[in-house]
Parts: sequence; structure tokens; C-alpha cells
Amino acid sequence: MNVKIAKEAGFCFGVKRAMKMAWDELELNSDIYALGPLIHNKQAVQRYEDKGLLTVDTINDIPNDKSVVIRSHGVSRDIYDKANSNNLNIIDTTCPFVKKIHNIVNEFYEKGYKIIIIGDKNHPEIIGINGWCENSALIVKSIDDVNSLNLDNNSKYCLVAQTTLNLELYNEIVNILSKKLDNITFKNTICSATKTRQQAAKELSVDVDCMIVIGGKHSSNTQKLVNICKEQVPTFAIETKEDLDIDKLNKFNLIGVTAGASTPDWIIEDVISFIESL
Ligand code: SF4
Repeated sequence: MNVKIAKEAGFCFGVKRAMKMAWDELELNSDIYALGPLIHNKQAVQRYEDKGLLTVDTINDIPNDKSVVIRSHGVSRDIYDKANSNNLNIIDTTCPFVKKIHNIVNEFYEKGYKIIIIGDKNHPEIIGINGWCENSALIVKSIDDVNSLNLDNNSKYCLVAQTTLNLELYNEIVNILSKKLDNITFKNTICSATKTRQQAAKELSVDVDCMIVIGGKHSSNTQKLVNICKEQVPTFAIETKEDLDIDKLNKFNLIGVTAGASTPDWIIEDVISFIESL
């Protein structure tokens, strides 16, 4: 059984940066709160929690004067306000690519534009972005959603996208909206880390007998990699090597491996050495 790994896989720049910032802080102070799981990878989160990180659901769960880690997904403006009024020490690991979307949304909203976001309305990144235009954005995630929007051609619109969005869907939506609206500004805010990982996964999946995609079940960029690989070859989505079905895997000779942007290197290496040992 041979294993080939995608050219780009695992932690992206933003997650690597966020994880390092949080770890560095934990080295100095073990009484730190994370607003939601640090990343969509429960094994990695566990390591941080073992070092003292406390994961909470809301800012109200954090006692005054403590430290709070804002995740790479970013948060809405009111979370910063609340953190400041509770005198929290903010460790802001928001990915700079997400921060850029907050700034765009804030700037255009203040100039009187209506904001359209392409993405999943329940994803923390989208909830955070929407919080920079007073939660007024129109949020769409499919062509059907776009076609059922109630648009006003006398208004100005600005469109942004979830960083992990598929580029083809973005282009299709831009195409539709540019025909419907006279005054719309498109901001392609898809992150290049996502694009390069998707491209590398696609390239590898045409060369191998099956693909293994490693990543959290709730990680949207991991699920997108799974869908891309599935179009080419049988694909197995796993979180750790324990999820591998050895009987199924034994049918293949050349196995491709890729991993979502929130999968740490040690989990990828673990999976590869396990397959190589079979
Ligand atoms: S996928 Fe892109 S936007 Fe998201 S954290 Fe990574 S680098 Fe930042």
C-alpha cells in the first residue's frame, strides 16, 4: 500500500497563527477562556484544554478581568464591546483574511450599502461577519437562495463571501446578481489557502485509487475537500486513524491523503504512518 499526500494539506496560515498565539498565552497564563472550541478539531482542542484552556459558549460565561481568546473565525463587534466593558484581556487570533471582511462590511455598511454574504448562516465566521453590519446582512448559500432574494434596484449592495466558499459557486452568484442589480460591489473574499487545498486535493485524487480526508466532522473546509475528492475516487472522511476501515482500505494500492485547514500535522503523520504499517 503506497501513500501520497496532497501538496497542500492541514493547518492553514490563519489557524497556525491562531494556535500559536493561544499556546504562547497558555505558556504564560493557564487561566484563559476560549469563546467556542478553538478550532474544529476536538483532538487539538483537547491538547489546549489539558494545558488549562477553558472553552465557554458565550462571553457572559467569562468572569470579569480574565483573558479571552477570540478564534480565527472572528466575532461580531458587540463581542469586543462586551469584552471591553467586562475588562477582559483580549487575545485576538482572528485570521487577518477574516478581519479584512469585517473591515469591508463595516465600511460599506456605514456608507449605506446593504450587505450580502455568501455562506452558511450558522457558521461562526458568518455570524461574526454579520455582526459588523448590525446583523442586517442577506445571507445566501445557494443559487435558489439568491433567486428568492427580495432585492431593491434603488439600493447599493456589497457582496462578500465566506473564506471557505467554492469559487465556482461564487462566480455563478456574481453572474446572476450583476444582471439583477445596477449598483453592486463584489468582493471576492475567498481565502487562497482554501483554494490551494481544494486544487491540490483534486489533482491528487485523479492520480490515486482512493482518498482519505482527515479533519473535524464539523469543519466546513474539510467537508468541501471530501466532496471534491468524491467526484473522482472512493473517499473516506476520518478524524483520526481510529476511524479508518482497514478492510475497505485493503482493496486499494495507491492511497491519497489530504486534510482540512484545522487538522494538526501530528494527526496527519499518525494516519500516514498507520497506513504505511498495514
Ligand atoms: S482558511 Fe484562510 S481565512 Fe480561514 S483561517 Fe485559514 S487562512 Fe484564515
